[in-house]
Amino acid sequence: MGKRLVLWDVDKTLVDLDSLGAEIFAAAFARFSGLEAHTRTHGPGRTDWQCFHETQLANGLVPTEQCYPRFLAIHEEMFAERGAEVARRGRVLPGAPEILRRCADEPGVVSSLLTGNSRRNAERKLAALGLDGFVDCSLGGYGDDHMDRPELVRVARERVRRATGTEFTADTTVLVGDTPNDVLAALHGGARIVAVATGWASAADLRAAGAEVVLDDLSDTDAVLEALMS
Ligand SMILES: [Mg+2]
Repeated sequence: MGKRLVLWDVDKTLVDLDSLGAEIFAAAFARFSGLEAHTRTHGPGRTDWQCFHETQLANGLVPTEQCYPRFLAIHEEMFAERGAEVARRGRVLPGAPEILRRCADEPGVVSSLLTGNSRRNAERKLAALGLDGFVDCSLGGYGDDHMDRPELVRVARERVRRATGTEFTADTTVLVGDTPNDVLAALHGGARIVAVATGWASAADLRAAGAEVVLDDLSDTDAVLEALMS
């Protein structure tokens, strides 16, 4: 079996936090901006950095280089404060623990994350829901690495190369995600995509975005592993 770098999206691929993620983001934006009310922006699969940038623009704020680091610190602090709520309101999606365990045990697989969350927030979400320890978070690509999701493929691959010496390519890197933006990250960033229809996007939406492999969910561990390794 050949080697694979498997990079998992988090929200609505591995876990579902209900609307808590958006609530915490909005609370962090309110604290950052000092605005009593603000216009929210929408678009699943954006990086948090992109979401922050677009929310600033939608509310007439002028982005500067200092803005995102300041927002990130507030956002991560609020996630830490509300960790118990994440555990209470979040749920693990069907099959996620099983396939993460299989990938962790598979000698040919390097398994990490490619998510719009910052690394710390991604780690907090997984830990709150008992999914920590399955992936090596130090090797992934995150929403605090770059505003544009396709760039995260390059970031993750570079981290893996430095840490393990293995050069993964567009044919041996696989993203797993639930939105058309995950599909585009693979197509533009240089990776294969296994899409899962466990988010807002339907299987047809994901195919229309360019995904060749679309699964209903992650519950059939053998089928998911076969899709990742083929
Ligand atoms: Mg997602």
